[in-house]
Amino acid sequence: MLADDDGALTIEVTPETTFEAVIGIETHVQLNSKTKAFCRCAYAYGAEPNTRICPVCMGFPGTLPVLNSAVVKKGIAIGTALNAKIRRTSKFDRKQYFYPDLPKGYQISQFDEPLCYDGVIDVVLPVEDGGGVKRVGITRAHLEEDAGKLTHAVGEDGKKYSYADFNRAGVALLEIVTEPDLRTGREVAAYGAELRRIVRFLEACDGDMSRGSMRNDVNVSIRPVGRETFGTKVEVKNMNSFNAMARAIDYEIARQEELIRAGKVHEIVQETRTWDEGAQKTVAMRKKEGLADYRYFPEPDIPRLKLSDAFIEEVVRTMPELPSAVRARYA
Ligand code: ADP
Ligand code: ZN
Ligand code: MG
Repeated sequence: MLADDDGALTIEVTPETTFEAVIGIETHVQLNSKTKAFCRCAYAYGAEPNTRICPVCMGFPGTLPVLNSAVVKKGIAIGTALNAKIRRTSKFDRKQYFYPDLPKGYQISQFDEPLCYDGVIDVVLPVEDGGGVKRVGITRAHLEEDAGKLTHAVGEDGKKYSYADFNRAGVALLEIVTEPDLRTGREVAAYGAELRRIVRFLEACDGDMSRGSMRNDVNVSIRPVGRETFGTKVEVKNMNSFNAMARAIDYEIARQEELIRAGKVHEIVQETRTWDEGAQKTVAMRKKEGLADYRYFPEPDIPRLKLSDAFIEEVVRTMPELPSAVRARYA
């Protein structure tokens, strides 16, 4: 038996049944603006901990965020490269949760009015994967701020400590979300590589996954071939290369198929798993938070973002040639 997304058990699985995966990607692209999204701190990877912070990105009472225009321009450029629509007016919201790397207790993000929406890119698949072109829908791309970073270590006294570095708190991100259009780990790796090429061509992000400048979360479910409805999806985080992404997906597909064939479809639950590179497998991390838990509400300290046609046109006019155009020209 296989469960529908709404939990109903309706499908009989026989040994002849073959499955296909349904995959959607959420990518956090760290924008390389000189200063953070809402304050004048300059982020630098590897800087001395807690030297790139100020009252604004630390969320001290009485401070006010001011939106950095460079962040908006980079967001528009990436959105345009993804053939997305750019919203003439959008807003920011507070996504609230508690975690030691989040000094404010909320993250400024865009909830229901993302800067970019409704895009599409054609991804060229490597010849060794059969070649061809995969069309991937882009649901949305929205601006938000990054959180700080925790590291865990054993001190000289032999006790365990957690260290909080807030340098990254408030750094600008563009979160790009795809439609569930991808079907294999190789397609996902090709999509990720094309996205990285785009942000690099635009000089909006260095695309260095090992430094966390580009972080991909993959959402994976499986279904019998020919079936229209989706199965329950699992989110996998913490892969630091496209190769690792492909392997994590292949592992997840095999794990889910095995559970279904063993009659344990109820054990596929909506959860976040982490990729364990050493063990080459995904490990359960936490149950997925419900949307209501974040208590999104409009950020009262940032006015609506209103973009003139002239502002958008200027960004688009100064964009360099994109990877797809270069490929077409060389061909
Ligand atoms: P959530 O509310 O859990 O964040 P979303 O609907 O916003 O879920 O989708 C997040 C990502 O998961 C998107 O990339 C989307 O395409 C993908 N996705 C949604 N449903 C499924 C599914 N059943 N299987 C695989 N991927 C999915
Ligand atoms: Zn700051
Ligand atoms: Mg979502």
